[in-house]
Amino acid sequence: MLTTPVKPRVHHHNGHGQAKKPAPRARAKEQWVYLFAEGDAQMRDLLGGKGANLAEMTRIGLPVPPGFVVTTRACNAYLAAGQKFPRGMWEDELAALKQIEKLTGKKFGSPAQPLLVSCRSGAKFSMPGMMDTVLNLGLNDEVATGLIATTLDARFVYDAYRRLIQMFGTVVLDLPDEPFEAVLARFRQERGVTNDANLTEKDLHAITNEFKAIVRGQTGRDFPMDPLEQLRLATEAVFKSWNGKRAIDYRNAAGIAHDLGTAVNIVTMVFGNMGADSGTGVVTTRNVSTGEKEIEGDYLTNAQGEDVVAGTRTTKRIQEMRTEMPRLYAQFERICKKLEKHYRDVQDVEFTIEHGQLWMLQTRDAKRTAQAAVRIAIDLAEEKLITKTEAVKRVKPEHVDYFLHPQFDPAERKAAIARGDRIACGLNVSPGAAGGQIAFDADTAERWAKVEKKDVIMVRPETKPDDVHGMLAAKGILTSRGGRTSHAALVARQFGKPAVVGVSTMEVDLEKRQCIVGDPEHGLPLRTFQEGDFVSLDGTIGEVYAGTVKTILPEFNDPYLLKLLAWADDIRHLGVWANADYPRDAQRARAYGAEGIGLCRTEHMFFETERLPLVQQMILAKSEAERMDALAKLLPFQRSDFDGLFRAMDGLPVIIRLIDPPMHEFLPSHDSLLQEVIELRVGGQDAALLAEKEKMLTAVESMREANPMLGLRGVRLGIHMPDLTRMQVRAIFEAACQCAQDGVDVHPEVMIPLTAHVNELKVQQTALEAEARKVMEEQGREIDYKFGTMIEIPRAALTADEIAEYAQFFSFGTNDLTQTTFGISRDDAEAGFLMEYIQKDILPENPFASIDENGVGKLMHMAVQLGRLTRPGLSVGVCGEHGGDPKSIDFCHRIGLNYVSCSPFRVPIARLAAAHAVIKNK
Ligand code: PEP
Ligand code: MG
Repeated sequence: MLTTPVKPRVHHHNGHGQAKKPAPRARAKEQWVYLFAEGDAQMRDLLGGKGANLAEMTRIGLPVPPGFVVTTRACNAYLAAGQKFPRGMWEDELAALKQIEKLTGKKFGSPAQPLLVSCRSGAKFSMPGMMDTVLNLGLNDEVATGLIATTLDARFVYDAYRRLIQMFGTVVLDLPDEPFEAVLARFRQERGVTNDANLTEKDLHAITNEFKAIVRGQTGRDFPMDPLEQLRLATEAVFKSWNGKRAIDYRNAAGIAHDLGTAVNIVTMVFGNMGADSGTGVVTTRNVSTGEKEIEGDYLTNAQGEDVVAGTRTTKRIQEMRTEMPRLYAQFERICKKLEKHYRDVQDVEFTIEHGQLWMLQTRDAKRTAQAAVRIAIDLAEEKLITKTEAVKRVKPEHVDYFLHPQFDPAERKAAIARGDRIACGLNVSPGAAGGQIAFDADTAERWAKVEKKDVIMVRPETKPDDVHGMLAAKGILTSRGGRTSHAALVARQFGKPAVVGVSTMEVDLEKRQCIVGDPEHGLPLRTFQEGDFVSLDGTIGEVYAGTVKTILPEFNDPYLLKLLAWADDIRHLGVWANADYPRDAQRARAYGAEGIGLCRTEHMFFETERLPLVQQMILAKSEAERMDALAKLLPFQRSDFDGLFRAMDGLPVIIRLIDPPMHEFLPSHDSLLQEVIELRVGGQDAALLAEKEKMLTAVESMREANPMLGLRGVRLGIHMPDLTRMQVRAIFEAACQCAQDGVDVHPEVMIPLTAHVNELKVQQTALEAEARKVMEEQGREIDYKFGTMIEIPRAALTADEIAEYAQFFSFGTNDLTQTTFGISRDDAEAGFLMEYIQKDILPENPFASIDENGVGKLMHMAVQLGRLTRPGLSVGVCGEHGGDPKSIDFCHRIGLNYVSCSPFRVPIARLAAAHAVIKNK
């Protein structure tokens, strides 16, 4: 992700609001404030994303209201100094304000030509709604009177004034929102209207006065009439909001560093609520759900920006502006094109129209769904705005992962519809299907998901920044209000949560903790759901169902994704193979683009019900004859397993690993056997059963190991039970010969696990190669085959030059290699102290998820070099879980592996990650 999160800094105060240690002062006078005309898009670190882009838009001649940016360095200095402006900052801010007054011909605090400004946060990385904003600064009683005289619109002025006091009260003075909202609700009720827009001038004037009284009542002080004091306090509030709880939560979730700080943007207010020739909109320059090339978004005439985003008024689609305001729409369309060309990416913009004049208030690279990310990357490359390489680079492994996400099973969906369980439709704002239990607030959602391990669907009227922790914990998000640009939609898309929003036929009652869904007029009866009830939603199509609807994986056939992966294939050097045990897995892997099977764990088939008794018979055999009999019965099973794999992978290599786990894994557990034997002895009835169980117990006891992971497994077991591995090799080669006879192009590679010493390989491999030759002679066929080994014990890596004398290929078993290098049990550690280590930063990350480059990686690098010293063309791959991890794939590329092998579902991701590795390490 973006940057490693660090713990938020704790500020120690000495009780007087002064810091113990003042912030180090820059020697040369620091420039704390930049006019828009002084900055550009490269200055994100200093000006934040919003500020840098406002500056850039100003620079390229787009209509941006005059303004300036207080830097992120100023914010950090302020916080580090115990909430004190750094020396010179305020003076810089005042000087910049003077410049704006010049540019606008207005004056801050002047009743005659009043200048009003907004004060908005803006960090380097966008954190939608996480920090604070105050609008309409500069209004006071006198200015309001003056403004009424110039605008002749008292309703507008009091509307602006009451908004200022409410925002200032909640954001700057930290007052609760409820008393303000209660006043508004009371007025709406008295006037019999549902919308604030229908309140009169007189109402708004009265509301303004009541709001002032709330401020006085709650703080003991008047709302500040001094515009400069308003500006100063608002600037401070934005600085402080960097360390607000919701901002910290968001940064933790998004992987944004805590020490970046936020900039403060002071921008001349323009008003979209000045009548029918005014308006405001929030738009993306393409459809960010599907990637389609069309301007997408919402707008409203005679409204302010918050009305669009909050979803409290029903917005219009931006296309309607084409007929309502054709001249402005044409201008806006040109601006969108220019912005896309300039930024070479789809933009997310906000604009306001004040009396027929269009103003751009924001632009940034738009967040998008995975589908849109892929399609947009392809389209931009085909429009020659970016190169193919750039297109590949822009699509993230997570995006590809998304195409492999579940959807409703069409048959189950049909059945649910027939049952009348489709309860609602809404906006499909974030794809993927999910089901779970309803939770009505973020804390409940988080607790149920994390502690009680429930699948949760978070259901809200709308979501707010404080809800993010619950949204992250939930499987899906459902809201009754909001549009495509609502908070719920943005956050869901960013974190890949299925979401349906704007379900207007759902009424959420947070007090009664229930929701009522239905649309009787259209034949959908009202149904009530309590917290904890199950619902399912599909954010790809925007549908909501009662109960659970089975999901399936979609077909892997999105033409844009296939094209993008083909481009990635042209770039990458690493091969991408798959770990697959069964033909159906191999088929899936191949459909996803796998170029071979890098690991078939043969023992997995031994657990099947028909086979386990045979495996046990073989293990417990008293005589050679008994054992050979069991093996002879297992042979046809294994042969048909391999036969299926070879056919699925016609023309491609298939690595089959000989049996690896310790034998007792195939026998009943010691403890439960002992229990049974004791019970049978006490009961004393079933002598025959007791004898059988005792026999099994003795066998299990004789094979019991204190440390089975370091015990009789892998090649050791193969040497110990040569007949077993011989049977496996026979099965491989008999299947290969049969397939070859049927015209299948087979390339078996036999892999010996857990080698530590070259002599193990010498003994085992020589015996097995002899068996392979024997089968080929019997069948009268030559098969193109290889014998090789896993490198998963440090000693094997250290002596790879010796090992390569015998092994024709290496495959790193990084699961075991990590276990044995760290001396950490892979079965136990992840559930135990390893997580504690990661939380305490003792380990930077889980070494079982991403290769530990400095330790395990060093052994791997050494083994590659030593192995190729002996056998120059030695093929080396990796088949541990790391084979599908993008970061580990980058490492495998750097140390010159031939391929990575991962689970079928990660094959597409690995193809992309392998291309990224080339681009990144060029
Ligand atoms: C490994 O150790 O990385 C490996 C692939 O083998 P297994 O996980 O089966 O031990
Ligand atoms: Mg292993």
